[in-house]
Amino acid sequence: MERADAVIIGAGLNGLTAAARLAGAGLSVLVVERTDHVGGGAAHNELVPGYSVPPIGFSHGYLPPELIREFDLGRHGLQMVRREGGVSLFDDGSYVASYTNPHVMQRELARLSHRDADAWPRFARDMQRQANYIRENLLQTPNDPAVRSLSAVRTRFSQAQQVAGMTPDALYDLTKFWSLSLVDLLGQYFESPEVIAHLAAPALVGRALGPHDPTSAALLPPLWLNGSEGGAPWRMSPKGGTAALSRVLCDIVKARGGEIRFDAEVTDIKMTNKKATAVVLADGEEISAGLVVSDLDIKRSFLSLFQWAGLPDGFAEEVANVQMEGIVARINFALDALPDFVNLPDGLPALSGGLNIGGAIAHMARAYDDWSEHYPPGRPLLDIAIPTLDDPSLAPPGGHVFAVTVQYVPHELHDGVWSPARRDALMQTVKDMISHHAPDFEDRIVGEELRVPADIEDEAGYTRGDPFLGQMSLDQMFFNRPVPGYSAYQSPISNFYVCSASTHPGGLAMGAAGANAAQEIIGSLKGRRK
Ligand SMILES: Cc1cc2nc3c(=O)[nH]c(=O)nc-3n(C[C@H](O)[C@H](O)[C@H](O)COP(=O)(O)OP(=O)(O)OC[C@H]3O[C@@H](n4cnc5c(N)ncnc54)[C@H](O)[C@@H]3O)c2cc1C
Repeated sequence: MERADAVIIGAGLNGLTAAARLAGAGLSVLVVERTDHVGGGAAHNELVPGYSVPPIGFSHGYLPPELIREFDLGRHGLQMVRREGGVSLFDDGSYVASYTNPHVMQRELARLSHRDADAWPRFARDMQRQANYIRENLLQTPNDPAVRSLSAVRTRFSQAQQVAGMTPDALYDLTKFWSLSLVDLLGQYFESPEVIAHLAAPALVGRALGPHDPTSAALLPPLWLNGSEGGAPWRMSPKGGTAALSRVLCDIVKARGGEIRFDAEVTDIKMTNKKATAVVLADGEEISAGLVVSDLDIKRSFLSLFQWAGLPDGFAEEVANVQMEGIVARINFALDALPDFVNLPDGLPALSGGLNIGGAIAHMARAYDDWSEHYPPGRPLLDIAIPTLDDPSLAPPGGHVFAVTVQYVPHELHDGVWSPARRDALMQTVKDMISHHAPDFEDRIVGEELRVPADIEDEAGYTRGDPFLGQMSLDQMFFNRPVPGYSAYQSPISNFYVCSASTHPGGLAMGAAGANAAQEIIGSLKGRRK
């Protein structure tokens, strides 16, 4: 029987990052992947010949610089592309753009409101402060109150001291950002409804919250993780897309002596004396493992895929209660040229950061209400990434890719499933919304595909199609992620760990959950040897 010190189930970004770190620590590592490629939600497909699109995820995100340095990703050929802040288009043809240059950003806001232009520096400063708090915690295992070790208690004391030492203003801001609704928070800075809608829209994508919901303001600071020079935050993604990042991580795993096996679906885990000791593949082969790390979501890891015996009382219920919700559909378009957005100036640089077509806050709130009642969105919020604007390698010369994340799409409808007719209607709604601003849009289409949450669930294996493998709501973050008492990537089964985005810090940073899980495993192996 083949054996590895660590068997990793799944070659998504987190599985690969965990594998790279574990292999770097000297463990023999085997990654078993059910498909024929690496990347999971970060993989790319060829939609039509020459057009490379991420079928499921990723327009942009935060890749921690610490991981770029640790794995020397630049030397392995990874280049990060910095993009401007994006554009929102409104029904009457007006638009708001975000610029990373603070002066250009203020000039843009002054077109709509001088008061809003004046408020921008205060807003940017406050957002960066909140983003800094989050960034500091991304590559650390959450301090779980269930852990009573001396070092954990010491860390909690020092965290309490930090809070006690905050200025009243900083403390007030902190509570404000974590409790208010998006609309209420943005209303404390800005008066223009278009500016408020423009800033709110990207924060809502992937989240089961509406713009008026308490705590939705907490969705804003993660958008600032890539940093800002006083203007809008940078939007970043790897050149060649997240597929390029997956390939580089795969090379690093192999260079460190790790192995990746494709078309190898794990169907069960073997246990001996309540310890995970082997994985079983679909063809019946068993691979013996010193430890097993799952890059699958928390429900797949514990409820639906494997036949666990001996889970402690209440654990399965905790996992079942994790909120995982289908909230987005993905539509990809391959275009033979950039459509003509008649109300946007030619070559508008902010477009490289993407395009939001979602209308006013009232439209977003209505789409959210429709979703809550399981109705198809009459007028969804469209978050359109156009990666080909500054990465032409993703399409043939002159061609472009529109990767449209369609927000507020329920997993199932009040009266049944997403029938072919319902899917066609959603596709046409999206085309009509884009064509309203770019009348030649449909003529430019040479390929298209639609995935509703049930398709994302089937293809990517995300329970209910939840894009973050567990909603990033306050009750499911930090030491509550994935479930209380298990935020250190461990599980009730000895030698079985979870490293997917279901664990801290979820979808906030690429590869961070995998890196943290590996760190915990390395630490616990050292502890055992002492
Ligand atoms: C529409 C959409 C848009 C998104 N946009 C963004 C974005 O812009 N920025 C961002 O940062 N995040 C985004 N995300 C989230 C992002 O895709 C996920 O957070 C990320 O891909 C999770 O990575 P992972 O390694 O944890 O899991 P996965 O990528 O799911 O990897 C799991 C791997 O396990 C494999 N596998 C599954 N079952 C088995 C089995 N039984 N045996 C063996 N292998 C198995 C899978 O094939 C897969 O390769 C988006 C998601 C969606 C759906």
